[in-house]
Amino acid sequence: MSLENFLKKQISQQGPISIAEFMQLALMHPQYGYYQKQQPFGETGDFITAPEISQMFGEMVGVWVASIWQQLGCPKDFCLLELGPGRGVLMDDVLRATKHLDGFHKCVSVVMVEQSAALQQKQKERLNPWNINIHWLSTAEKLPRKPTIVIANEFFDALPIHQFIKTPQGIREKLVGLDNHSLEFVLSSANASFSYLAHWQEQIEMNQVIETSPASIHVMEQLAEHISQMGGAGLFIDYGYEMPAFGDTLQAVKNHKYHEVLKDIGEADITAHVNFTALAEAAKFTGCKQQQVISQKDFLKNMGIEVRAKELLKKANAKQKLSIESSLHRLIGDAEMGKLFKVLMVA
Ligand code: SAH
Repeated sequence: MSLENFLKKQISQQGPISIAEFMQLALMHPQYGYYQKQQPFGETGDFITAPEISQMFGEMVGVWVASIWQQLGCPKDFCLLELGPGRGVLMDDVLRATKHLDGFHKCVSVVMVEQSAALQQKQKERLNPWNINIHWLSTAEKLPRKPTIVIANEFFDALPIHQFIKTPQGIREKLVGLDNHSLEFVLSSANASFSYLAHWQEQIEMNQVIETSPASIHVMEQLAEHISQMGGAGLFIDYGYEMPAFGDTLQAVKNHKYHEVLKDIGEADITAHVNFTALAEAAKFTGCKQQQVISQKDFLKNMGIEVRAKELLKKANAKQKLSIESSLHRLIGDAEMGKLFKVLMVA
């Protein structure tokens, strides 16, 4: 059975499901989910992420990780945690960038939080050469009781969201239902009652969509509580916005092109933009003293990406030069990832 037929059967028996439930199944169904079976990344996949664009991205994250470790007083036994590590490229580059930092590799134990068995396998293959203690978890629930430095790139955008829309009858939830045997977006028949909505409902205009991701908030609360108890910091990079910003950001991508969300379920990536204000507030309420949101451009420049690019250019041939320059532009250009992608740092 395809995932589409599985969903149709479930909806015809039990009624429409939330967009959150739909996303969770489309991305993570143990058999049919997108991340369980596809090879999403790179030129031949569906999309390219920053660590896959250039090694410089992971190196700059490495600079940040190293500086946090030093600010923590170089703890002898600490955890470097990555959420949603994809093919493991970012962690590989961070470990390479910190290789010569005295004591770092001796003191670090790496934890990878990954729900997809197929991607866990890919990550193991890539990181196997490092002589470091690395282990895998499927959720961030039970973390080692040590100072912890967390990194995550394009993780929160894959977590399920709910969508609501303001109608003349009140605020209704957008659901996935059936219309004439095909999957369609429908509205809940009763008014929605999420506490998050109460805060914003005056500001939403008629027919506007508002999104919320309780799953993201839950993960951020777990991490922030852990960091505030054990010491540490977190770096979260994603395509996203700060409130108040309303609108429908749910999107599917297949072969580097936008795709209809309800078509080819399990064959296309589905994401939503990340609400950085909500994540920062969750970190604050759970005890993290610092929360700061800046653009990817500012973050990478602060960490020295332009200096690093210059250094790499010195040793590069003509073809490599072009590639270094174009990837630098993709990562920090205002009309590229530089402004759209944001970085939340909590400590
Ligand atoms: N960070 C990588 C990959 C981003 S894609 C990069 O930048 O290239 C999203 C990643 O998050 C994938 O590895 C996916 O399997 C993982 N993921 C998605 N939902 C998850 C969840 N609920 N728990 C753990 N990992 C998840």
